[in-house]
Amino acid sequence: MNTTLRQVNVSTRPAYASWPVAQAETPRIDAVYAHMPFCTTKCHYCDFYSLAGHLDQADAYLDALEREAALQARQLPMPARPETIFIGGGTPTLLEPPHLERMLRAVTRWLDLSALREFTIEANPNTFSPERAEVLARAGVNRISFGAQSFVGAELAALQRDHDPQSVAPAMAMARAAGISNINLDLIFGIPGQTVDTWDYSLGQALELGTQHISCYSLMYEPNTKLTARKAAGDVVPMPEEDELRLFEHVYAKLRAAGFERYEVSNYARPGQECRHNLHYWTGGNWLALGPSAAAKVGAYKWKNVGSLAHYLEALAPADAVLPLTAVERLAPGHAAGELAMLWLRLASGMDYAAFEKKTGIAAKAVVEQALARYARMGLVDLLPERAVIREHAVVLSDTLLGDVLAAFTARDVAGQGHVVQPSKRD
Ligand code: SF4
Repeated sequence: MNTTLRQVNVSTRPAYASWPVAQAETPRIDAVYAHMPFCTTKCHYCDFYSLAGHLDQADAYLDALEREAALQARQLPMPARPETIFIGGGTPTLLEPPHLERMLRAVTRWLDLSALREFTIEANPNTFSPERAEVLARAGVNRISFGAQSFVGAELAALQRDHDPQSVAPAMAMARAAGISNINLDLIFGIPGQTVDTWDYSLGQALELGTQHISCYSLMYEPNTKLTARKAAGDVVPMPEEDELRLFEHVYAKLRAAGFERYEVSNYARPGQECRHNLHYWTGGNWLALGPSAAAKVGAYKWKNVGSLAHYLEALAPADAVLPLTAVERLAPGHAAGELAMLWLRLASGMDYAAFEKKTGIAAKAVVEQALARYARMGLVDLLPERAVIREHAVVLSDTLLGDVLAAFTARDVAGQGHVVQPSKRD
């Protein structure tokens, strides 16, 4: 056991599964996701796998990332040729430029990049710099997603974000100066104390900065976050649902008037600027994953890397490296189709039956029409000959509708068709 691991006190070793997909059955890989776990502080609402501080472990993380990429490359019949790469976190651009350069190399050098069209990295405005922007541009990154969240200082403070609203414009200017002009801004609504006016102000600031893409997420009170603990202690009072709904509806009007289209429940883009990477997630693509807690989907299999840096480093220790795969699952065909239909129906363009069948081999029209017939009668859904579309005013009811779609697909499964791949202990 090395010093790094002693510091973080690894007491029990998880079991890891071997690569579940036979080379001959490996489908085309559309996308690659890589996870970088370090952040400056932990935002109170965050339930992503991220560690405040710990940058002293950047070298160990990068060593492990390189080994993981090499091990994955051996499992594939030929180098993966993704159309998109997305590096998320954590705050990937928190790494110092030499480390950032090394991470970008580790993520890309085992891939065939001849089909690459979109290469995104997440960044926080306060830790961005011209040097980092140059490193990204040199490595082929052509899209940056900044976590702006709000342009109102008090709202950022309520979320315990460690940047101020004034840092967003300079960070975007640095990206553009390096030649990266495709920029997304993440914004959050439903923050305690937020009003239609302050939300309108944040949306207006994002538009003024000339971004191509805006993601608007509602504030979630996830289990095991500080925000949820503060709520339980009475320190934070969540926004009433009807107020949150008003903010949600305000986005449409504001962004549409500015030339943006809602193409997914939470995502808005100028025409042609949709996030191609996320579209792969929502329309049945296959993607590989690198880094602690990163999730992959290849053919009928889904899996997740171990969600702990200490265990990730332990699994990929030089002498005895194994892939850090946990929670490997082969979904039954109906369940897999149902999960995909739920994602696909969140698109504003709806779910195209022919495209769905091409991806899954499953003719979905009859199943979807049966599941959504009563919602169509209520005027919430359009059941067109070639696709099903949830109408704009019914988007807020999506969870109920989509739950019925999932149930309709899973009802077709025969017991035992899906299974969990049993991991095995290393020692
Ligand atoms: S910057 Fe992002 S990943 Fe890091 S703690 Fe905040 S929300 Fe989580």
